Amino acid sequence: MTKRTLFTGFERIATMDAGGRELTGGYVLVEGNRIADVGEDARVIAADDVVRGAGRVLLPGFVNTHHHLYQSLFRNVPGASEAKLFDWLAFLYERWKGLGEDAMRVASTVACSELLLSGATTTTDHCYLYPKDGGNILAADIEGAERAGIRFHPCRGSMSLSKKDGGLPPDAVVQTEQEILADSRRMIERYHDPEPFAMLRIALAPCSPFSVNADLMRESAKLADETGALLHTHLAETRDEEAYCLRRFGMRPVDLMEELGWLRDDAWFAHLVVLNDADVVKLSAARVGMAHCPSSNMTLGSGIARVAEMKDTGVKIGLGVDGSASNDTSNMIREVRQAMLLQRVRYGADALSAREALKMATMGGAQVLHREGEIGSIEVGKGADLIAFDLNDVAFAGAHADPIAAIVHCAADRVDLAMVNGEWRVRDGRLVDESILDLVPLHNRLSRELIGAG
Ligand SMILES: [Zn+2]
Repeated sequence: MTKRTLFTGFERIATMDAGGRELTGGYVLVEGNRIADVGEDARVIAADDVVRGAGRVLLPGFVNTHHHLYQSLFRNVPGASEAKLFDWLAFLYERWKGLGEDAMRVASTVACSELLLSGATTTTDHCYLYPKDGGNILAADIEGAERAGIRFHPCRGSMSLSKKDGGLPPDAVVQTEQEILADSRRMIERYHDPEPFAMLRIALAPCSPFSVNADLMRESAKLADETGALLHTHLAETRDEEAYCLRRFGMRPVDLMEELGWLRDDAWFAHLVVLNDADVVKLSAARVGMAHCPSSNMTLGSGIARVAEMKDTGVKIGLGVDGSASNDTSNMIREVRQAMLLQRVRYGADALSAREALKMATMGGAQVLHREGEIGSIEVGKGADLIAFDLNDVAFAGAHADPIAAIVHCAADRVDLAMVNGEWRVRDGRLVDESILDLVPLHNRLSRELIGAG
């Protein structure tokens, strides 16, 4: 018999479905790894396990659309913390090049656990760093995330254009186009699961216009056509990138992507900060995805993305914490708050509501990853990816007139529970597998060694 778990007695349930349905005193029934029922009155429902949520808010799990999990090893690095993107990269490449598969595996488990504790039940990882003696970084990344138990979309990233060829990264971290494409194909064949409710899907992700050859972008798009993998890259992050593209290619970043055949609905771009009106029209017409990363954009002083203007266009907008070298935290619910606040700095107090920011973190992210039929909302037939926040805390005293907005406005930072694909990952605010915490001292030691080696 499939196990049935009943969630009931929650202060509020935010389904994040198309109609924005919110339930007071309703229930959600999970059978196995799916949501079997959602309703108002739980009295007649039989279940093996009953989860009572007094003073708690239940939501669909968040979808983190941009990250570099290895960067939890490079947080808060003196010398990088006050630099803008190109200087920041030049400084960190020298430290990143020491990354190996053992450190990657540890970083992936630790970073995914931090995501789970802050509400993400699905994450991407733009994994683009393959140092010469590093071993199989992407396989280690996947093993690390599997241990944490998160739904995972690792991207086979790549860098092929080193300093000597006019790019930004040093030779030690770039690979040839042939190596990259062969390994990309190998990783898709080995790991990519196209089935509904898959826990693991691979995407293809040349790092950025200033670290790969144009040809690799074109070939990656062809491989995506052939395999069904999604496409991802960094785009239009800073004014410096815009100047670089104009100098090197004679066109701005979005025009370059159009030229390379990347303006398509199975591609999603991190950042999209430096856009003109024509760019927005093109991105919207192509129905591309966007990973909006407000904390990273603020840390690097990159600017404020035009999210409030783009939210009603064809662009699918999700949120991303980005790597911990440019955010210093991988906290998903804090990112929701940052997204809301940063838009208000540029566009005023009505630019983005708490619910709109939560929508981006849930259905928005699911749409970016083409998984809107499986995750991103609490609806019958969807995957059992559920989170709850406990409002029985001093931080929420007086905020219960609108408990759903409260988790954003009053700065929730940790979930009370997280279920992924029907499996418990967090209960009572703690990881179910607490042995993961034993990795933290090892992670710290690896981090010290890598930073010190630069
Ligand atoms: Zn990034």
